[in-house]
Amino acid sequence: MALMPMWLITMETHHCMRQFGGKRNYKVVCAMLKQGSVQLDIQNNQKRTPLLEAVSRGHLGMTHKLIALGADINAVDGEGNSCLHLAVEREVFDSEDAPLDLLNECCTSLNLKIEERLSGIVVARYLASQGADFHHKNNKNNTPLDLINDPNLRKKLEAFLPPQCLWCKNKTATTKVHPCEHLLTCEECSNVPLKRCLRCLKPVTSRGRVESVNLDEKLLHSVAKKLGNKWQQLGEDRKR
Ligand SMILES: [Zn+2]
Ligand SMILES: [Zn+2]
Repeated sequence: MALMPMWLITMETHHCMRQFGGKRNYKVVCAMLKQGSVQLDIQNNQKRTPLLEAVSRGHLGMTHKLIALGADINAVDGEGNSCLHLAVEREVFDSEDAPLDLLNECCTSLNLKIEERLSGIVVARYLASQGADFHHKNNKNNTPLDLINDPNLRKKLEAFLPPQCLWCKNKTATTKVHPCEHLLTCEECSNVPLKRCLRCLKPVTSRGRVESVNLDEKLLHSVAKKLGNKWQQLGEDRKR
């Protein structure tokens, strides 16, 4: 099968599904994904990758498959929006044939009703559990959290997020200081010569990188972490 721009297919699928309400074209796209005849990092005129396009159009099944195939979860479009910015702005997703186990877990962890498991917030939580960075700011300087109007929901989401780097305030913190054990800085800021902890001001004796930042469901995260390594490999294989 010829190489077709994935975003075009995604858009076409969207139109067909809306027009005919059928699943035929979705199946065509899935067949193409299976053959590996789509480019995962191709960008359309809004600089959106297939993953960003699938999220912005609410195709959960497609999103799920693209993630599994190694699509870059932190890709951004021409306006600096990540999949999280696009997800939180959507009210509801079409489940297509995506397995809903992870969604159910994300829904429960946010204390939302099961009927809300296909809402943009739950999907965003799911994307974050797969490595999407909630601290990423778009070109308007908004993080995905800033786009959530409901303060209660924002708080719930914030509660499970890994902390932000206290130095640059722009990335997830991955470096801990000892002995107070506070997670302080991101990779790039990890060489700032801190004498005292930025949070509690206790003297710092040493510091270390935290492999995975603690989200509250250990299970969810270990799955994400395992998949994460595979995705990286996939990504590197593709570049070769
Ligand atoms: Zn930083
Ligand atoms: Zn401290």
